[in-house]
Amino acid sequence: MEYFDIAETWSRDQIAEEQAKRLRSVIQRAMRSPFYAKRFAEAGITPESIKTVDDIRKIPFTCKDDLRQCYPDKLACVDREEFVRMHCSSGTTGSPVAICYTQKDLSTWADLMARSMHATGLRKKDVFQNMSGYGLFTGGLGIHYGAERLGMMTIPAGAGNTRRQIKLLNDFKVTGIHILPSYAMHVAEQVSAMGEDPRKMSVKRALVGAEPYTEETRRRIEEMLDIKVYNSFGMSEMNGPGVGIECEAQSGMHIWEDAYILEIVDPDTGEVLPDGQVGELTLTTLTREGMPVIRYRTHDITKIIPGECPCGRKHRRIERILGRSDDMFILKGVNIYPMQIEQVLMSMPEVGQNYLIKLESDGNRDTMRVQVEMRQENYVDDMRLLKALQEKIAHRLFDEILVTPVVELVYANSLPVSEGKAKRLVDLRKESKGI
Ligand code: ADP
Ligand code: ZN
Repeated sequence: MEYFDIAETWSRDQIAEEQAKRLRSVIQRAMRSPFYAKRFAEAGITPESIKTVDDIRKIPFTCKDDLRQCYPDKLACVDREEFVRMHCSSGTTGSPVAICYTQKDLSTWADLMARSMHATGLRKKDVFQNMSGYGLFTGGLGIHYGAERLGMMTIPAGAGNTRRQIKLLNDFKVTGIHILPSYAMHVAEQVSAMGEDPRKMSVKRALVGAEPYTEETRRRIEEMLDIKVYNSFGMSEMNGPGVGIECEAQSGMHIWEDAYILEIVDPDTGEVLPDGQVGELTLTTLTREGMPVIRYRTHDITKIIPGECPCGRKHRRIERILGRSDDMFILKGVNIYPMQIEQVLMSMPEVGQNYLIKLESDGNRDTMRVQVEMRQENYVDDMRLLKALQEKIAHRLFDEILVTPVVELVYANSLPVSEGKAKRLVDLRKESKGI
């Protein structure tokens, strides 16, 4: 096994020892911010309260709303002039959160990102195209600086303008990319539409993340482009990408535990759950100096994969994110995540690359309408065949979510494609009730 960073070779004991040390010092540092000074004083937390990593459980959680209320700078632990960059969360679930970085923070982040890329098999000799948006979104510059730190020739293509992206991929014989899952399938389709074989392109590896996607979607992207797809995880509150990555074993995402403390908690009670149980991912920054964030409730639902990864790294792994707790919707008393629907749809070869879930109400009854793109090869004029396919999809969905949806088949490429994070769910229930 080749490592990028010595921390990748740490044993569990070394990780625990370093984490306790770093946690004490990050508490000390966090107390310089107006927000944590007050929060810790109220809870009676001092650096001396922390002897072992488990003592983190004494510290109160930080919620998304806390960070929103801290906007723009109540989390700052250094003078304004020490900051050299700011980013914002995408604002997918509400008003965005601002994060500022010192020079050192940017360097630590680039190292984590380079380490993550290296773990997927990318090397200095690779040519890398970042196909996600730049600007405030951390998937732009965050990935970019990591790629440069690894020494790859890096193309800041940004999102959109698909034809130009494809030209760059071909002209520069790009071997590695970073791309959002929904956009990856769209690009592959566009290459085919231009009369080229997407499997013949030079790309070999892709970091894919920034939004939830299923194992079935991963397999589709791998198949369409004949590449390896590695799940890449992060969030602005924790720097951005580079928090977790799938190594070449592709069996869950290692969270870099020298830089983050990882907990899974019961979303209702806040109780810390053992490895293997599904709950809300909670993260603490250990190495950030400008704006540390302690016990942050991410809203992301996942579990820690028990046991060791075949790669030998001891940093624990999390399962693919099932969704955000905010994405879960309740229909006829059943809790449903959009990813459950995606999993069914993407496992059916007749189904194309895009779908949209619409929740509607006629005033008395709530219904779920799933618009499903068909594969062009499967277009038929025979109503009976279309009806049969509709029923087959509805049945499969029922088996997974125990609710029968209205399935609507639509043409390939007829649903909106997002350049950023895909919008999978439209809830029209309140509107249709006239609220
Ligand atoms: P926002 O939370 O407003 O979308 P960010 O751009 O910081 O802002 O996105 C971070 C969030 O994106 C994470 O909390 C998570 O919900 C989602 N995310 C990032 N990477 C992945 C991934 N690989 N799988 C699933 N979800 C992801
Ligand atoms: Zn591994």
